[in-house]
Amino acid sequence: TKLITDVVCPFCGTLCDDLEVVVSDDGKELLEVNNACAIGAEKFLHSQAKDRLTRPRMRNEDGSWREVSYDEAAEFTAQMLAKSKKPLMYGWSSTNCESQVVGSHVAELVGGQLDNTATVCHGSTLIAVQDVGVPSCTLGEIKNRADMVVFWGCNPAHAHPRHMSRYSLFPRGFFTAKGHRGRTAVVVDPRPTDSANLADIYLPVEQGRDYELLSALRVAFRNEQLPDVVAGISKEKIYEVAEKMKNARFGCIFFGMGVTHSLSNNHNIDIAIQVTRDLNEFTKWSIMPMRGHYNVTGAGEVWGWQFGFPFCVDLSRGFARYNPGESSSNDLLMREEIDSVFVLGSDPGAHFPFSSVKKMNALPCVVVDPHITPSTVVADLHVPVAFVGVEVGGCAYRMDSVPIESHKVVDAPEGMLTDEEFLKLVLARVKEIKGV
Ligand code: SF4
Repeated sequence: TKLITDVVCPFCGTLCDDLEVVVSDDGKELLEVNNACAIGAEKFLHSQAKDRLTRPRMRNEDGSWREVSYDEAAEFTAQMLAKSKKPLMYGWSSTNCESQVVGSHVAELVGGQLDNTATVCHGSTLIAVQDVGVPSCTLGEIKNRADMVVFWGCNPAHAHPRHMSRYSLFPRGFFTAKGHRGRTAVVVDPRPTDSANLADIYLPVEQGRDYELLSALRVAFRNEQLPDVVAGISKEKIYEVAEKMKNARFGCIFFGMGVTHSLSNNHNIDIAIQVTRDLNEFTKWSIMPMRGHYNVTGAGEVWGWQFGFPFCVDLSRGFARYNPGESSSNDLLMREEIDSVFVLGSDPGAHFPFSSVKKMNALPCVVVDPHITPSTVVADLHVPVAFVGVEVGGCAYRMDSVPIESHKVVDAPEGMLTDEEFLKLVLARVKEIKGV
């Protein structure tokens, strides 16, 4: 057997890069994964499933499947996209930047609606950052400098299981030699989560009233008067936390979908960023979204360079437009503006509202995914591909926007294509159809 070290985990936005993987001598079998959390390890081990699909399959009239070649699959996809007036090209978060680049090229040629999983996740963060900017830093700086961390509306103990041990709460760093004992952790969440159990201070904010609590912190920083209770938290507690934040040496607010998808949406993030700015009058603070899919940050970065917008990119007029709420996937589906759906690197069948999935079901739909998922259930064509980060490497952006290069650790089953290779076949065929 061979031991491969410094392997990058392709599951969540923490992108842990210290995994060790044991593979067979011929590099065809993955035998063991060390250092990963349970969900990360499962991603690697799932690639070894004996019943895994290795060839594309097309839906028959009666709903059954028949196997087709990758060339036939590319032909069907290219014809579907090229003939559509407004194809939705959704996902892009569990793939590498190389594939995102090729996908963007296809979308430009077919006038696609490009959207990634931020649309149902941290899209409101991206809007807030465009509104007011963001004082941020890297996870390495947190590990080495932070003596106070706030987890607001997120539960890393479950969603990013190694985040706290690698970067934010437990590790000892250059200026944080005491590790957990030298850090104050605050969790703000309506529910007493497992992350809340690890906190020094837990603030059970009332559901949907994050904006008020963030405003109250701004008031407390200035030592001005607060009502007795704000968002379910006593003013004494708010003054206490505000004082600790002002006196920290270096702090970071990590926030999740409890803030981005509760009342006020992007305005919650606007004011969380203002809180961070206020704190920088006294000491050094940063703020960082807990990005979910492993390369959702990369999708925003790649489209940022190419089109100027990180999600909800409408290319139907031949140039990039951006108007979340109008050009976001669910709105487009519900308004029935879309005439075909292409999904890669995500599972909208599992994450979108049922009414949107029903609309997808009524449209021509291609899903590129190594797994059988709820999205493949509504697909006319399912294209299984190599696992990105396991059977093919490439660039991905960690949640702090640091690009990390991963390498393949095991061979894909013979004859299987990668996302990028399949997209290149589609691109070549779209170019022929469009005569460009
Ligand atoms: Fe993978 Fe995330 Fe677990 Fe790290 S925390 S091993 S990146 S799933």
